[in-house]
Amino acid sequence: MPLQIVHHPDYDAGFAVNHRFPMSKYPLLMEALRLRGLAVAGALSMPEPAPAARLKLAHAADYVDQVIACQVPAKIEREIGFPIGPRVSLRAQLATAGTVLAARLALKHGIACNTAGGSHHARRAQGAGFCTFNDVAVAALALLAEGAVENVLVVDLDVHQGDGTADILKDEPRAFTFSMHGERNYPVRKIASNLDVALPDGTGDDAYLRRLADILPDLSRQRHWDIVFYNAGVDVHAEDRLGRLALADNGLRAREDMVIGHFRKQGVPLCGLIGGGYSTDVSALAARHAILFEVASRYA
Ligand SMILES: [Zn+2]
Repeated sequence: MPLQIVHHPDYDAGFAVNHRFPMSKYPLLMEALRLRGLAVAGALSMPEPAPAARLKLAHAADYVDQVIACQVPAKIEREIGFPIGPRVSLRAQLATAGTVLAARLALKHGIACNTAGGSHHARRAQGAGFCTFNDVAVAALALLAEGAVENVLVVDLDVHQGDGTADILKDEPRAFTFSMHGERNYPVRKIASNLDVALPDGTGDDAYLRRLADILPDLSRQRHWDIVFYNAGVDVHAEDRLGRLALADNGLRAREDMVIGHFRKQGVPLCGLIGGGYSTDVSALAARHAILFEVASRYA
């Protein structure tokens, strides 16, 4: 069975190449996965846009309606970082549904990854920080509501703190949020996760991996997890434009192996999301995101 990969061509909302958000990383990631022999028949699934009712499990109903109608107030669009037109709205609905679909595939096959997702700054009331809907929170709450899972773990290793996920899931005792991130990075006002680990600027492979290796067993001792959502943001990389940390490609690869290996050896289904990554060299960035899929395929 090849690694199950969820994708959609409309994950790319077609921003200008010089936009601060490197939208072209989505088609370039798919190209990288094809080159690596991972995007093959039997591996790929495509989501339908998420229904409004599902999005409203995690988000305020008026905000969901505003995004779907492309009538988001300008103040919120500024906090998100781009205007919500038809392509961006569709993209947000698809990426969120993609994480729900990847989670279902993970429950069935043990592991699956979405070629988007990890929009962890979207809070219950609104989007922020390049995030329109919080795909992980929507998927977690959808699976819990259906009774498909009883205990959900979020492992968020994007370099930015997972404030939106923490905000949405803070009153859900069946979900546990863990964020390890750069201390001095966005968001300035962090919303506490169940467990937050803040790293100093310039943290490199060894210190990063040692810290993570200490924490993973603690997470597993808490309770039996029915699924783990893994935000594998690559903005921890030394060459990331926004990251402030200093991981190398090998460090990223070791991180993915550590996280995925840890949970798969215990039989916990894992749903991987690409999370953040910012670089003007978008091909190099896509190759960094592809590492998640290369490592995950060894556990499929
Ligand atoms: Zn990030």
